[in-house]
Amino acid sequence: MKIAVVGTGYVGLVTGTCFAEMGNNVTCVDIDKEKVLRMQSGQVPIYENGLEELFHKNQKQGRLVFTASLEEGIENAEIIFLALPTPPGADGSADLKYVLGVAEQLGGMLKHYAIIVDKSTVPVGTGELVHERLSKNAKVEFDVVSNPEFLREGLAIEDFMKPERVVIGTDSQRARKVMEELYAPFVRQGNPIYFMDIRSAELTKYAANAFLAAKISFMNEIANLCELLGANVDEVRKGMGSDSRIGKRFLFPGIGYGGSCFPKDVQALSHSANQAGYRFHILDAVMRVNEQQRTKLIPFVLNHFKNDLKGKVIAVWGLAFKPQTDDIREAPALENINILLQHGAEVRVHDPEAMANVRKIFGDKISYHELPMDAANGADLLFIATEWQEFRSPDFDALASIMKEKVIADGRNLYDVEAMRERGFKYVSIGRKAVL
Ligand code: NAD
Repeated sequence: MKIAVVGTGYVGLVTGTCFAEMGNNVTCVDIDKEKVLRMQSGQVPIYENGLEELFHKNQKQGRLVFTASLEEGIENAEIIFLALPTPPGADGSADLKYVLGVAEQLGGMLKHYAIIVDKSTVPVGTGELVHERLSKNAKVEFDVVSNPEFLREGLAIEDFMKPERVVIGTDSQRARKVMEELYAPFVRQGNPIYFMDIRSAELTKYAANAFLAAKISFMNEIANLCELLGANVDEVRKGMGSDSRIGKRFLFPGIGYGGSCFPKDVQALSHSANQAGYRFHILDAVMRVNEQQRTKLIPFVLNHFKNDLKGKVIAVWGLAFKPQTDDIREAPALENINILLQHGAEVRVHDPEAMANVRKIFGDKISYHELPMDAANGADLLFIATEWQEFRSPDFDALASIMKEKVIADGRNLYDVEAMRERGFKYVSIGRKAVL
């Protein structure tokens, strides 16, 4: 099939590349001309496991092309995906200016029937707004479909190629048939494609993300309670997670969720609920808990240095909002680094993929190190913000010998508490006994 993908970010580029991998002809459109030039010359603008190989292969075979011109990009497309940003507005609602702006432009450009598929995460009712905007200038027939994306950054290719489910909202039999055919190669193992009305599809995405965020905030509150009651959250987690109704996943406490999805989607759903006259109490609590949790280790750090961080060197391992990505949007690490800097600390950081993005924010205010041990060299304290695999089993003897003081504030519970006690570290983590 001939496909256009408008917006070539984490979702759009993965979507376009994976459709090309199945033999479709894909044109990716992006407003960022510099990004388009880089992609045309074979550079992958984001880090995503496995993406580079598929990108190069499909580009070489001519099935994956890039343009900054919307008109050129959609010229022959039977299906046009919108994978555009939907950032939070000042009031927390999803800002639809990118989606609706492109919809309005598209109307006048369509020369034949096409299906416009919304892949961005958008509030209920957006499908109708997109339809309205397209109708203003459209001279041909078209259908609007909602196809929310559930991929996880870091595992995006795997998730897209073998989705646990595909959700498609449409009221058109014609569009349904085309979408079913497009996705058939991705669900050969029998995973379902759920067809539903557009409003339900739009809400499904928010409901899924809000539920996952709630699971994290719930566990963070259990962890906080564990600390006060002398329980160990690791044990509690295993005990409760083995109940199949609860499940083992997403029960790990830490310094809060971040990323470009959970924070904005929980806010946007809460806002939609308010607008509909419904107070979604759980979401308010989910957001409040996360806000507090993100800086949970700061009081320990300040206390440890008697509120004076001047001249203290703090190493930070992990900057991305989660492992396996270079995405730093709403990453808890950034907020913590800001606080440490405000208190006069010298901050030395390491992240396997996200340092270039962080440099754009902090510049020379912090120093960047290619190896975790280089960042920790001479540090008075090590702060762990992201659970990259390579931080799980460091050479503790080497770490002890290069750090000025053996102190770790672990926001992701990477190490065994007793083992850290035996190694002689001061060690504070989340929901477990502190070694002081
Ligand atoms: P992103 O910011 O990484 O990418 C958006 C891209 O759109 C950018 O390259 C930008 O230059 C481009 N763009 C902006 N305006 C444009 C225009 N008028 N024409 C063409 N291109 C334009 O965003 P993302 O993370 O890929 O997210 C896109 C949507 O998918 C959001 O609604 C998001 O909530 C949703 N989503 C994201 C994820 C994720 O893990 N990132 C997962 C599921 C759903």
